Amino acid sequence: MRFHGSANVRLCFLLALSLCTSLLLLVGLQQWARQDLLASIPWRSGNATRLRSSLHGQGLAATSAGSSSTRPSPIPTRGPPWHQVAEALRGSQNSLEEKEPPWRERAGVTPEEEAALLLWDTPLHRPGSGKHNVKLSDIFIAVKTTRKYHKARLDLLFQTWISLVQNQTFIFTDGEDKELRAKAGGNMINTNCSAAYTRQALCCKMSVEYDKFIESKKKWFCHFDDDNYVNIRSLVHLLSTYSHTQDVYIGRPSLDHPVEALERVRSGGSTSVKFWFATGGAGFCISRGLALKMSPWASFGNFISTAEKIRLPDDCTIGYIIEGLLEVKMIHSDLFHSHLENLQQLPAPTILKQVTLSYGNSDMKRNVLRVQGPFSQVEDPSRFKSIHCLLYHDVWCPPEDGE
Ligand code: UDP
Ligand code: MN
Repeated sequence: MRFHGSANVRLCFLLALSLCTSLLLLVGLQQWARQDLLASIPWRSGNATRLRSSLHGQGLAATSAGSSSTRPSPIPTRGPPWHQVAEALRGSQNSLEEKEPPWRERAGVTPEEEAALLLWDTPLHRPGSGKHNVKLSDIFIAVKTTRKYHKARLDLLFQTWISLVQNQTFIFTDGEDKELRAKAGGNMINTNCSAAYTRQALCCKMSVEYDKFIESKKKWFCHFDDDNYVNIRSLVHLLSTYSHTQDVYIGRPSLDHPVEALERVRSGGSTSVKFWFATGGAGFCISRGLALKMSPWASFGNFISTAEKIRLPDDCTIGYIIEGLLEVKMIHSDLFHSHLENLQQLPAPTILKQVTLSYGNSDMKRNVLRVQGPFSQVEDPSRFKSIHCLLYHDVWCPPEDGE
């Protein structure tokens, strides 16, 4: 009896010990997934094939998805596969795709939009989850660029986020380019503005962006630079919290105070005017309702003469018209990011939730996001490919070796 009793105690003790160890392991694994973003992730493709082929069918898939040039070398396994980590970072365990198919119909999502939203699997990120039902096709996305950056910067955007929203993305540039024309078609707009990096040339481009948006009849105007990564899901989610008929001007200021400008007046003198503006390098959006009110100072080339009044660049002029002249307050959002801020400080678990991201890669100073993603720093110096893979892991990441 004594023998059996002590065996039971030992058995119970061993069972309790192994239970505790498993629990500790589980908690540790979860912590790792949230904090150490893909420090070392093996290549997995999940159910990529089905989704990828559906995208190819619509001509929407990112071109580099399976190319050998972007395929990273296998990394030794330490921790869960990258798509699990991406899910953990997004705070989601379930795939909406599998669980609740009718959501797309409810949100009025077209097949093209579906491609971009395929893995929109957190309730927070569902289209139509905001108060207002914003669809991708409601947004006019303007990307400002210049001839010399067509290859150096735009190619990367076409490989990543633009590939998902090509129909509503318009490229504003300053020179013809057959290759870009072949890719973007009528969505490449040659502004015929000067290619110089001057206040006047930048305002000239913004003026064309504004006119094209008004002409498009779309509900939202969003401007981005060619060194922005745009998280389309976050963008739609953000805009769906507002109505396009309200006065909405949303973005991030680059200063911690309003800019003060001297406004030239008719009499020949000048008065001081103070206003906030959303920095163009982080991107910003304006509702149609507000854009229409800007018309006297912005349409048909008036933007250029308005900018001349304060002698400040394009993004400041937008702020001047909205805050200074129309007296509408800018909405300050910390979801927009330019390389004027220290991007390294953006916490890894929040990166996938931002609306825009950027990079700065001058010889003097490297300012990039801390994402140790599936692509190495050499393959992906901006980190945009890694971020795009994390956001759309079932459709975009390079396949596993042997797939
Ligand atoms: N840009 C332009 N013309 C130029 C140089 C730049 O239209 O001659 C555009 C560029 O494509 C980008 C934006 O202006 O969209 C900002 O340029 P950049 O990122 O080089 O400068 P920064 O962000 O430091 O102002
Ligand atoms: Mn820039």
